[in-house]
Amino acid sequence: MNPKQKAKFLEIQEEEIEYYYDILNENIVDFDCGTLCKPDNNGVPFCCSVRNAVPYLYKKEFELLKKRTNLWKEWIPSNKQEIKMKMEQESDDGIFCECKGHQFCERENRSISCRTFPLEPYLDKRGVLVGLIYIKSFVHGCPLSKHPEKIRQEFIDTHFLFWEKLLLRKKDEYDMYLAASRTERRLRTKNKQEFKIFFPSHLKEREYLLKYI
Ligand code: SF4
Ligand code: SF4
Repeated sequence: MNPKQKAKFLEIQEEEIEYYYDILNENIVDFDCGTLCKPDNNGVPFCCSVRNAVPYLYKKEFELLKKRTNLWKEWIPSNKQEIKMKMEQESDDGIFCECKGHQFCERENRSISCRTFPLEPYLDKRGVLVGLIYIKSFVHGCPLSKHPEKIRQEFIDTHFLFWEKLLLRKKDEYDMYLAASRTERRLRTKNKQEFKIFFPSHLKEREYLLKYI
């Protein structure tokens, strides 16, 4: 395989995104969780305002969504800090985007970022994906971080499946979440404060995992 072909195979393709969307279709809770955060956010769900969280789309995802809807556009930073974030965090295959607003949301055209919020994968001391955890930077903004009991097991199970597939496809993301998981463990030891791990059904009550997490 030549380098050009290799690079093409490494990039997430549109049909894969469609497949991921199929997997990431479960509701996170049994009610509209926007009702929990809207009152403190001028009537806008916390995670649907770019002032709080800017959706990060794969470039192929953005291309796919542009064919399906006019909901999305490229996000334009409005201050020095945002320009820095865009320059430092966008990559060859990813781009920050903005939707038209929560009143125009199209469920089937939400990005992977929207669908997975507020959880991310957790990799144990062996580097094995064993569950999901809250994204640290949004813990204070998303009220669900105080109500783990409300998060549906079906959501955890399907999102675990998604992350398992994605981390096999994207070495850079595997490395990023491996480092983030290590940081969580370091802070747990330093602050003597546990963090919540959501286990998929098939890994619940597996005692052998305790020494690795
Ligand atoms: S996921 Fe969290 S921040 Fe987003 S709408 Fe639900 S409660 Fe609000
Ligand atoms: S697409 Fe929907 S879920 Fe995603 S940020 Fe916009 S309003 Fe929120």
